[in-house]
Amino acid sequence: MFNARKAAELAAIGLHSMQSRAQDFAGITTSDGENFYTKRGPGIVRQVFTKDALDRLHGLHAIGHTRYPTVEDTPYQENIQPIEGIYGSANFYLIHNGNLTNQADLIKILGINRFKTSMDTELIVRLLEKYSTGDIIADLSKVCKMLQGSYCLILLFKDSIIAICDPTTNRPLSIGTSGAETICIASETCAFETLDMQFLERVEPGTFVHLTNTGIERHRFAKAVPKKCLFELVYFSQPTSNVFGIDLMDYRERIGRKLEEAYPVPGADIVVGVPDSGNLFAIGYGASGRSGKFLPVITRNHYVGRSFIEASQELRDAQVAQKFQISPDAVRGKRIVVVDDSIVRLTTMPVIVRRLRAAGAKEVHVRIAFPPVKHPCIYGINTPQYSELVASRLSIDIIRKQLKADSLAYIDLEDLIALTDDAPENWCTACVTGQYWQQVYA
Ligand code: SF4
Ligand code: MG
Repeated sequence: MFNARKAAELAAIGLHSMQSRAQDFAGITTSDGENFYTKRGPGIVRQVFTKDALDRLHGLHAIGHTRYPTVEDTPYQENIQPIEGIYGSANFYLIHNGNLTNQADLIKILGINRFKTSMDTELIVRLLEKYSTGDIIADLSKVCKMLQGSYCLILLFKDSIIAICDPTTNRPLSIGTSGAETICIASETCAFETLDMQFLERVEPGTFVHLTNTGIERHRFAKAVPKKCLFELVYFSQPTSNVFGIDLMDYRERIGRKLEEAYPVPGADIVVGVPDSGNLFAIGYGASGRSGKFLPVITRNHYVGRSFIEASQELRDAQVAQKFQISPDAVRGKRIVVVDDSIVRLTTMPVIVRRLRAAGAKEVHVRIAFPPVKHPCIYGINTPQYSELVASRLSIDIIRKQLKADSLAYIDLEDLIALTDDAPENWCTACVTGQYWQQVYA
């Protein structure tokens, strides 16, 4: 948040609008042009940023972050962003979305073995300290070209902000404005709508966006070589966001239509999504009327957290059971198609199928809007390792039997990509295909 009265409050509201991205920790640092103010803590945005906490975050500029532990770091208290560093004689603060994959190399380059955190992100801060010459754009360019993996970064200086998108734009990063002097940069465009701001443009892959009192400057440090995260489109982002230029509400509905075309259930009675994320796909699936009609016979209890990001398997299982409510009157004797965004660990869907049957459903057919996730994500989405990824261990038919579903089908990867209207090589599909990529700095 650049040049905003109540910058910390606006940053907190923006983070809250994207709370689904991460729920374990939250942090905000502000600058009043002279001093920095930081509040970081465990919990969701509303818990960390009480009115008192926000009142102490002075200044017109703010950066904020929510996080959950990803593959490369262990969960402990110090792992909260923004991370502080020193550039020249002044402090700066940095936040990172994504995950680096060459930590060992970077630690070697740095030649130090004691760090304040166990986050990959701290390495970026220490590298910028090591290579500071006073020409921030040149220094950042040098540091970024050492990084492998995925990174969107925002740096806060006393009176400026720099946002960076890696050459792949694996994660989205967008710029919005209030129309006045205020600029907002956020992972998801849903933040702008919540803050009553307008989308301006995306931070282009391989560029820095420098916000100062004289306006916005853009610098290219590397050629764009897109490897955009497909899972952002289907699972991770809010459906009200526009991600990589794609209106997710429309895209997800079209995925549902395509799924029905490819894997119909002729004459089914009801199509239902696993709420909330499965609903748009289910609406699309039911649109033709050939394979049942959309009816939200499963509702979600919003007072229970989201299962995907919970730390342990036991916690996740217990939560799933309380999370959904089914109408026995509506499903009794019916042939039902249940649609969800993805199957990762096989936590949610077995519970849903079992309860639909217990409620009297005659048949239960399962349709999934993302292809089987067979490989771990190393770029910052917390999909589990191979042993917990059900599709890497079991065939689709065995999964169907474990689910006790009458049929099971996933959208085809080719269809998912074709619906984006962008070339296949511009998408990261590593969790589906195992085709991991490297940053190319040209
Ligand atoms: Fe996204 Fe999957 Fe690629 Fe990870 S591996 S960045 S989840 S598409
Ligand atoms: Mg879901």
